[in-house]
Amino acid sequence: MHEFSLAEDLLKLAIDEASKAGIVQLDKITVRIGTVSGVNVDALEFAWGFLRDTEEITKNTELVVEHVQGIGRCKSCGRESELDRIFLFCPYCESPSLEIISGREFILARLEGDDDSDHSGAESEKSEMKNG
Ligand SMILES: [Zn+2]
Repeated sequence: MHEFSLAEDLLKLAIDEASKAGIVQLDKITVRIGTVSGVNVDALEFAWGFLRDTEEITKNTELVVEHVQGIGRCKSCGRESELDRIFLFCPYCESPSLEIISGREFILARLEGDDDSDHSGAESEKSEMKNG
């Protein structure tokens, strides 16, 4: 299952980023996923629910998904259209030369958790990861 290996990558990256930010226990991670990234969010959440408990730092860590709207731009007429799946024909002129300009994201956007000092609530912003 593709999403299982994505969840494994996500777990490794989250642990890596957490240690850089001084976080010892992760409460929540936020992932940005584009509508045309090809990632099955349900399958990813399922895999995460299983994998998170294999590491102390991610035990019970909540996975929050932010959806990014896919946008394609037509190379023939220049118009932009919203994409909810990989659909490579322009809805205006039916040209098959749509370029996807947004929506392929699979990004670990934010980490929230407790650091090892007294004040909790450490956060870390934006760390890009490759899809697949
Ligand atoms: Zn067009």
